[in-house]
Amino acid sequence: MQNPFENALVQLEKAANIMSLDKNIYEILKYPDRVLTVSVPVKMDNGEIRVFVGFRSQYNNALGPYKGGIRYHENVSLDEVKALSFWMMIKCATVNIPMGGGKGGIIVDSKKLSLGELKRLSRGYIQKIWREIGSDKDVPAPDMYTTSQIMGWMRDEYEKLLGHADPGVITGKAIADGGSEGREIATAQGGVYVVRELAKRLKLQPNEVKVAIQGMGNVGGFMAKLLSDDGYKIVAISDSKGGIYNENGLDVKAVFEHKKQTGFLSDFSNAQNIYNEHLLELDTDILVPSAMENQITIQNANNIKAKMILEMANGPTTPEADEILAQRNIIVVPDVLANAGGVTVSCFEWEQNNKNERWSEEQVFIKLESIMVQAFNEVWETKEKFNITMRAAAFVKAIERVAAKIKI
Ligand code: GLU
Repeated sequence: MQNPFENALVQLEKAANIMSLDKNIYEILKYPDRVLTVSVPVKMDNGEIRVFVGFRSQYNNALGPYKGGIRYHENVSLDEVKALSFWMMIKCATVNIPMGGGKGGIIVDSKKLSLGELKRLSRGYIQKIWREIGSDKDVPAPDMYTTSQIMGWMRDEYEKLLGHADPGVITGKAIADGGSEGREIATAQGGVYVVRELAKRLKLQPNEVKVAIQGMGNVGGFMAKLLSDDGYKIVAISDSKGGIYNENGLDVKAVFEHKKQTGFLSDFSNAQNIYNEHLLELDTDILVPSAMENQITIQNANNIKAKMILEMANGPTTPEADEILAQRNIIVVPDVLANAGGVTVSCFEWEQNNKNERWSEEQVFIKLESIMVQAFNEVWETKEKFNITMRAAAFVKAIERVAAKIKI
C-alpha cells in the first residue's frame, strides 16, 4: 500500500518546480502545522472498555480556519490523515474559499458498532480534541462513514465542554441541527457542475458519453443519479463488494431499488457482474473513482481505457499513475477541484451559522455553481497557459494563494 502522504509530497514538489516556489515557503508546506493523536476509551455495550485511536491533522490555516472531515475506517492512519489534510488545504485554495486544511480520523470499523457505541466514540473523540477546534480555529465535517447524526453529537459535546453555543464548530450537520440546505448532495452536485464545464470545453454530448462510477456512497451514489438526470449513459457502478456493467447504459433508478431490496448491486437484471478492478479498466469515456485512495496505480494505469477521469474520491490516483495517464493524454480532473463542492457548501454552512442566516437550496446551488465554474475555468486556463496537467494547474493556483498569505 502506497503511503498517501508521500504521494501528496510528490505532488507538492512537482507544483513547486513548475511555479518556482520560494524555497522557504516550500519547506513550510512540507509539514502539517500540528497533528494530534488521541486514545478514546469507549464503554462497549457488553460493559468492557475498548480504546480507539484517533487523529486530527491541522495542515495549514493561512487562508482561514483548518477545515476538513473526520473519517471512520479501519485503515485510517496518521499518514493518511496528514495527506488528506494537505489535500484539503489545496482544495479550499483551489476553489478560493476562506478555509485552511485539516482532517481527522478514527481507526474503527463503524459498521460493527451499535448506535450507542458510535455515539460514545464520537463524543469521546471530541472530549480529546475540543480545545484545538472551534468555528474560528478548526472546523471538522463528515468524511467516509461519518454522518450528519455524528456531526450533531460532536457539536453537542463540544458546546457542553465550551459552555456556550458555537454552531459553526462543525459542518455537515442535519438541517434541524443548523446544517445547510444542499450539503448532503453538495459534493456530487459540485462534480456535476465540473462535468458540465468539461463537456462545454470538449464539446461532449451527454447521451454519447459513457460513464463508469466506482463507489456507491454519498458521493458515487448521487453522482450516478445526477449524471443520469443530465442524460449521461451510466454503464457501470460498483460498491465495495463488486459492480455491474451494461455497455448500453443502466437504469440508475432501478439499480438503486435493486440494491435497496437485496443489499447488493450484483445480479441486477440486464447487466453483467464485474469486479471493482474490472470497472476501472472498462471501455468508457468518463471514469469516476468515488471510493478510496490509490485505486489507479502503476499496475493498472496503462490499462485504463477511459478518456477522462473525474476524481470524486480523495487521492485515487498515485503520482506514478498520474504520469502514465498524462503521457497517454487522458484528462484527469483532480480531486482538489472535482470534489470540492462538499467543502464549499460546508463553508456556506459555517457562514450561515456565524451570521445566523438560513439560505434556500436554490441560493446554495447558485453560489456553489458560480464557485465551481470559476475554479474549473481558472484551472483549465492555467493548464493551457503552462501546458501542464489539470492537477498541476490546480496545485499552482492553490499554492499561489496560500503562499501569498504566509509571512516569513
Ligand atoms: N470530507 C469532505 C472532503 O474531503 C468534506 C470536508 C468538509 O466539508 O469540510 O472534501
